[in-house]
This record gives sequence, structure tokens and C-alpha cells, in this order.
Amino acid sequence: MPVTIGALRERAPGETRVSLVPEIADKLAATSVRVLLEHGAGTLAQFPDAGYKTVEWADGDAILAAADVLLTVQPLSIEQIQRLHPGAVVVGFMQAYSHVKEVQALRDRKITSFAMELIPRISRAQSMDALSSQAAIAGYKAVLIAADTLDRFLPMLTTAAGTIRPAQVLIVGVGVAGLQAIATAKRLGAVVEAYDVRSATREQVKSLGAKFVDTGVSAEGTGGYARELTDEEKRRQQEVLDARIAVADAVITTASVPGRRAPRIISRAAVERMKAGAVIVDIAAESGGNCELTQPGQVVEHQGVKIVGPVNLAAQLAFHASEMYARNLYNFLKSAITKDGSLAIDWQDEVFAQSCLTHAGEIKHEPTRKLVEAT
Ligand code: NAD
Repeated sequence: MPVTIGALRERAPGETRVSLVPEIADKLAATSVRVLLEHGAGTLAQFPDAGYKTVEWADGDAILAAADVLLTVQPLSIEQIQRLHPGAVVVGFMQAYSHVKEVQALRDRKITSFAMELIPRISRAQSMDALSSQAAIAGYKAVLIAADTLDRFLPMLTTAAGTIRPAQVLIVGVGVAGLQAIATAKRLGAVVEAYDVRSATREQVKSLGAKFVDTGVSAEGTGGYARELTDEEKRRQQEVLDARIAVADAVITTASVPGRRAPRIISRAAVERMKAGAVIVDIAAESGGNCELTQPGQVVEHQGVKIVGPVNLAAQLAFHASEMYARNLYNFLKSAITKDGSLAIDWQDEVFAQSCLTHAGEIKHEPTRKLVEAT
């Protein structure tokens, strides 16, 4: 039996992305599933209704009631979850840590939910890796914000009015976002330094033509992620980093440790040692911030230094963010859609098994289950 796949206009404040773009709607329609879309769903991402040639249009409530598979960017509200039919599948970012009540509602409504942020970081799943696609956008955009906020050039210029020295940009945290930030700052002509606790990033930083800041501290964790540092390691790291922060014109911070508050890397004292006019763009603003003075969604000015705490940076590049995200969703789903358009999830496949948050009235992701039980 062909399934009905639905997508809605996102309701979360500031969310401009859409989970389904015309290219993917066409691909889904070609597999003989039925595709339902809410009017205006892609408008803010510059995908007008007229571009979707293969979908059926319906209002939000009708889509929630009819969808066997619902594609989302942001977590659904409790009210929306209640309108889904039991056994329906939801695929999107679930943000379980900050949406405990929604997770309970998914469980109680017997919804099968897959969290895009839980898809394993294995080679086979790279084309589904929405954390990476959206982080790359954040890294790129953060540098543009820094460039726009600075009252100086990034590149070196030789002009009739004299020579302009290039800006010094420091990137802290060299994951997906950090690498894209390095590449973007280099393209804009800045002198770029970068730092990460994982020593594996040293070669990556160098290969992008930037200088690696060596603090003598290495913190490889499991699965390629960073582990938490000891107090002594933090102190040593800090001393070296503070000196580099003090001479930077722009600092982009992207450091995070999965499932935890973002590490504090730039103290108030370190900000006070920075040059007047310098800028910090803290991508980790939403998860607590890498800078002590960061306020999510705001620009704080402290002794002439601007600290920008952007939230949902990917939504600021909604067209490409939606395109990449919708492809991630499609690459995830396609192996579960059979020739006749029905859904057959292979629970032996680690990609489905590990990304499943709730199924058949249970919370399948262990850390989330513990969190919900402790609440
Ligand atoms: P992330 O967003 O979890 O963290 C960003 C960076 O912050 C990481 O590089 C981390 O090491 C760093 N960091 C943490 N604490 C720090 C501190 N105190 N000081 C400085 N830096 C600190 O990272 P991510 O972009 O999600 O990538 C995490 C890992 O997953 C990386 O090893 C990456 O190469 C890997 N990855 C693998 C795949 C794949 O194989 N499919 C895809 C994407 C990412």
C-alpha cells in the first residue's frame, strides 16, 4: 500500500527552512508514494508553491491526520503530535534534551520518530548527515557575520592610500562548522589560526592553509568526538588560547561536546584583553556558549568587543540549508520505501536502529529514556 508522506510549514519562531524541496518531492512522487504539502511551506526558503509540480496540497491539520510519514525540520508541538495517527513515522531534528514533553507525547501516541541528529557518523550515512550539512552552513555564515561586524578589512590590500594588514581570525573547535569557517575566512583573505582539543584536527587545519594553535593538550574522546577536559588540562589550554584570543580581530567559536553544555573557552577576562573593535561570533550560543559573555540571539558589547550569539544560523541561509536537509531526509528514507511505495523499515540496519527515538510506545534512545524518566 503506497504511503502518504507529508511536510508542513514550520511553526517555530525564526525557522525559515522547509523539510521538502521540489527536487525531493519529485523523487518521492516517482516512487509512487503520495506527497502532501502545506501551502506556503517553502516560501521563506524561496521555494514558492508553484515550484512543486508533483505534490498534493492540503492544510496543516489534514496533513497531520493523513501522514504515514511526516518530514520536519524542528520538533513538532505536543498539539501537532496528538493529531498524528498512532503508528505514524516522524523524521526530523527532535532536540530531545530540550523537548522532553514532546518526546513523552511521541511515545504515548505510539509514534515512530527518527531523530536526524542521532544518525550514526559512519561513511555509509554521510549523505544523510544533517548535523554536518547544517553545521557547514553555520561555519560559513559565522565568518560572514564576523566580516560584517568588524570595522576593518579581512584581506590584505595594497592601495594608493597605503597598505592594509590582513585581519587575524581565530577559529576554536575544528569540527564540520570549524572547518568550513577556516575555509571561508581563508577565501576572504584573513590570516587564520585554529584550535581544537582533538589532535587529529592538526593536519586538517594545516591542509586548509591555516595555522594550528598548539596548547599541548589533547582530548580524543570516543567516536571521533571530544571528551571533557580535566581542570589542569583546561588551565594549560586556556593560557595559550588566551594569548591568541588577545591578538585576534575575529574569533569564531564552534566547540561542543555531545549531550553536554558547550565548554566555556573565552572568559570575561580574556574578552577584556582583546583589542577594541574585535568580534567574537559564538556558534555555540544555543548550547550555553563558548564565551562567558554570550547571550543567545543577541550582540553584546563589552569594552569595545562585540560578542555575537547567533541562533539557528542555518535558517539564515534557508535556500541551501533546506536543499541539503531535504536531500539528507530523502537519503535516509529511500531505502525504506519499496517499489510499490510502501514503507519497510529494516530494524537490523544500524542507521534506523540508532536514530530511532520512539517506537511502539517506547523510548528507544537510552540517554533520552533516562532523561525522561528522571524528569
Ligand atoms: P561538534 O559540533 O560536536 O564539536 C565541534 C568541535 O569542537 C569538535 O571538533 C570538538 O573536538 C571541538 N571541541 C570540543 N571541546 C573543545 C574544547 N574545549 N576546546 C576546543 N575544541 C573543542 O563536532 P562535529 O562537527 O559534529 O564533529 C564531531 C566528530 O564527528 C569529528 O571527529 C568529525 O570529524 C566527525 N564526523 C564524522 C562524520 C562521518 O564520518 N560521517 C561526519 C561528520 C563528522
